[in-house]
Amino acid sequence: MDNLINNEESNKNSTNIYPTNFIHEIIDEDNKTGKFNNRVQTRFPPEPNGYLHIGHAKSICLNFGTAQKYGGKCNLRFDDTNPTKEDVEYVDSIIEDVKWLGFDWEERLFYASDYFKQLYEYAVQLIQSGNAYVCSLSPEEIRETRGTPTKSGTESPYRTRSIEENVDLFEKMKNGKLEEGQCVLRAKIDMTSPNMNMRDPVIYRIKKASHHRTGDKWCIYPMYDYAHCVSDSIERITHSICTLEFENHRPLYDWFLEKLKIFHPQQIEFARLNLSYTVMSKRKLLTLVEENFVSGWDDPRMPTISGLRRRGFTPESIRYFSELVGVAKRDGMIDVSLLEFALRDDLNKRAKRVMAVLKPLKVIITNYPEDKAEELEAINNPEDLSMGTRKIPFSREIYIEKDDFKEIPPKKYYRLYPGQEVRLRYAFIIKCEDVIKDKSGNITELHCTYDPDTKSGSDKTGKKVKATIHWVSAQHSITAEVRLYDRLFTIEDPASDEKDFRELVNNSSVEILKDCRIEPSLSQAKNGEKFQFERLGYFCVDSIDSKENNLVFNRAVTLKDTWVKIENKSSQ
Ligand code: ATP
Ligand code: MG
Repeated sequence: MDNLINNEESNKNSTNIYPTNFIHEIIDEDNKTGKFNNRVQTRFPPEPNGYLHIGHAKSICLNFGTAQKYGGKCNLRFDDTNPTKEDVEYVDSIIEDVKWLGFDWEERLFYASDYFKQLYEYAVQLIQSGNAYVCSLSPEEIRETRGTPTKSGTESPYRTRSIEENVDLFEKMKNGKLEEGQCVLRAKIDMTSPNMNMRDPVIYRIKKASHHRTGDKWCIYPMYDYAHCVSDSIERITHSICTLEFENHRPLYDWFLEKLKIFHPQQIEFARLNLSYTVMSKRKLLTLVEENFVSGWDDPRMPTISGLRRRGFTPESIRYFSELVGVAKRDGMIDVSLLEFALRDDLNKRAKRVMAVLKPLKVIITNYPEDKAEELEAINNPEDLSMGTRKIPFSREIYIEKDDFKEIPPKKYYRLYPGQEVRLRYAFIIKCEDVIKDKSGNITELHCTYDPDTKSGSDKTGKKVKATIHWVSAQHSITAEVRLYDRLFTIEDPASDEKDFRELVNNSSVEILKDCRIEPSLSQAKNGEKFQFERLGYFCVDSIDSKENNLVFNRAVTLKDTWVKIENKSSQ
């Protein structure tokens, strides 16, 4: 496991597969000192400007999981303070995704926009206590006078406006009497602070935009830094968990709450999750969607929760992954193989195992009667025998995987080749007698013989073969489409490459196979249902494109080391 987690912080604890969680250590300490009267209240605060991704899932598991661990509560709060980028489509998808992950905010679904009036009143208070002013510099002038990390900023000439004038102007801003860009409300802190966030940050700007919840009621909107800490305070959040880039914003978070003299949550930062071979910025994900690199936010190659769901990931696997990743204080990159490991671990125990042939090659068993068919017993999941058994039909004509036959076998190739014997899973041992080709020399079918005494479960011949392969009966099997996915990007960290991330998209990240043959028990498969196709991986019925007469499967993840296992076993 350790080598899968490319993150020092997470590796500290070698006896427990779960890394230590420094946030829980902070809470334990707070509970010892009684800082929040032993209350734990967290929140997950998405901005509805895109679909949630696996990084958000990490944050959801952390916030809801922490509340659960301490018998506390976790709110779902939309940070909807920027109407031009937000949309109800995103609100709906976020609600669906958090629910699907298995978390419950009970009646605590909140919107920062619910607090617009309170936020406005608090801002007036800041003006009245001399801690905020209306600044009429243009946005460019504000940028220019902010200074640089090594050079102090300069004070705005409007900094000394009287309280009355500020109150009056702020009201005019609110009432739509002033135009966008004409002025903003700024906190009066310190233009010489080494922390740029403390150099009189903007609190409110004019935006004559319609909001998806408040309509045209407001034409000023609060900035994130101000809205966030006040919303946390209103909801009496105890531990406000956010990602590392807000560490430098914490002094501002604390400043607002101190000046307003209101309930003061503790902000705690952790490293955001980065996953290899993908991007996690909502802006980049939106570009992938808008420029048709993928079919939508829920394309199975996307790192979005809806994409992972469609691909075949389970809530359990994502929660497990999130535990395995742990909580770090330094940025790192997590290998996507850890996410795949978590899914395999879950589906290994739960998914029914079936047989499907993705690239079919016909095999005629010449000594099997033409009009005969028999039913063989197959185990649904050897990891969990309570999942029972099923019957699979066997007949004279079957399909096997093209790859399971080689006319001229390379060294150490134990599967089928002329003269060689293999076992058919849950069936008989067959021997390849003849290879049939078309005029151009392509192999069209194989002629094999079977040994009727080698039926699985009642084989007393003692015959040993070196490989077991999967198959389906030609006449009984059904056709299905199978989509095989590869990584969406060609390099591990597309976000930090000099090249435009669009140039790094893997052009062969999906392979569509239209003529796969699957065993008949799958005709009843429901959308979203997951299976292990023996030897091939875990597959999920596509929830959008799959229809009753045209089944479509997505490969969620391959099986690891299957060949080794199967080829080292002598039979079955
Ligand atoms: P934006 O650039 O739009 O702000 P964002 O990814 O920060 O994007 P938010 O909607 O603000 O999106 O995120 C909601 C919550 O999820 C925040 O608390 C944020 O810190 C957390 N979060 C976002 N990305 C990650 C990530 N990669 N790993 C862990 N937590 C994340
Ligand atoms: Mg954000």
